[in-house]
Amino acid sequence: MEIKEKIPLAEYTSWMIGGEADFFCLPESIDDVKEGILWANQNQQPVTFFGGGTNVLVSDKGIRGLVICLRRFSGIESKEENGNLQVTALAGTAKSELLKMFLKAKLAPALFLAGLPGDVGGGVVMNAGVAESFVPREFFEIVDWVEVLRYQDDKFTTARLNKSQIVWEYRHSHGWQPGVIVRVGMSWPLIQDHTVLDQVRSANKLRLSKQPLDMPSCGSVFRNPAGGKAAQLIDSCGLKGFRIGDAEVSLKHANFIVNRGAAKAMDVWAVIEHVQKTVKKYSAVELQTEVVRLGEW
Ligand SMILES: Cc1cc2nc3c(=O)[nH]c(=O)nc-3n(C[C@H](O)[C@H](O)[C@H](O)COP(=O)(O)OP(=O)(O)OC[C@H]3O[C@@H](n4cnc5c(N)ncnc54)[C@H](O)[C@@H]3O)c2cc1C
Repeated sequence: MEIKEKIPLAEYTSWMIGGEADFFCLPESIDDVKEGILWANQNQQPVTFFGGGTNVLVSDKGIRGLVICLRRFSGIESKEENGNLQVTALAGTAKSELLKMFLKAKLAPALFLAGLPGDVGGGVVMNAGVAESFVPREFFEIVDWVEVLRYQDDKFTTARLNKSQIVWEYRHSHGWQPGVIVRVGMSWPLIQDHTVLDQVRSANKLRLSKQPLDMPSCGSVFRNPAGGKAAQLIDSCGLKGFRIGDAEVSLKHANFIVNRGAAKAMDVWAVIEHVQKTVKKYSAVELQTEVVRLGEW
């Protein structure tokens, strides 16, 4: 596997923003992932993992060390067992591939997965989910186990953690660290719903009408505060259309910040801070970011 130098990360993020990675690789197998980690260790470089790059804000100064981008580390299989569809996916498998599996079997998880970009591993890290009252609607509901690769004391180990060993929170999971998620086991009862494809189509149509999916973004920037909606709070402060450089609070959905073409990470961050300050002033709510900041700030 080639370890490249000075790779611009913007093209690996859905915001299309970010400086260079000092070093960068795209593993396709578990051996490649290990090779990257070993290389970084031998060369005393820190490691940052990327999934689909759909929930990260990468600094304009880039990321020091080695970025291991997992999007080619993909593969998925399924079988029917004990009345369930059991699916195993490598971390870099696109959620859309997982969606296809559940859709083919006419099972309910297809519905929430249809709203989620990025990879399976990133879905576990973020406990990705949708606001609608679908069942299931978050990753933790379909995950059975997670395999984590660790490199400690000069050796690799792989730990398989059951769902109950992981702490699942709103748009975040922990308890599986340290390490990198390499494989995920998921399942859902084989109770067919023949309307699932129609439901996916209507949910997609609704999403298209409400979200600026034609512009680079990272989806919702802020977590919904307890009992409220971040988008409503931002909108009520008149912030739709607020812009610094090419980073703009979307006119279509107030919890999205879109890149109008040449936005810098600093512009996005300045918009985020302005939104936080304004919302706090008018409603006393302190909005927390959902997006993960990576690199040198
Ligand atoms: C248009 C749009 C709509 C969106 N809508 C939603 C939505 O409705 N609901 C929702 O929850 N999210 C939504 N998102 C956000 C995003 O898609 C999810 O959070 C997604 O699960 C992130 O997955 P990813 O593979 O892109 O992760 P990345 O953005 O690549 O990474 C996220 C974090 O996980 C870490 N990471 C990634 N993979 C691994 C791994 N294998 N092991 C260890 N660490 C890892 C990264 O270092 C980073 O810290 C949306 C994004 C966009 C662009």
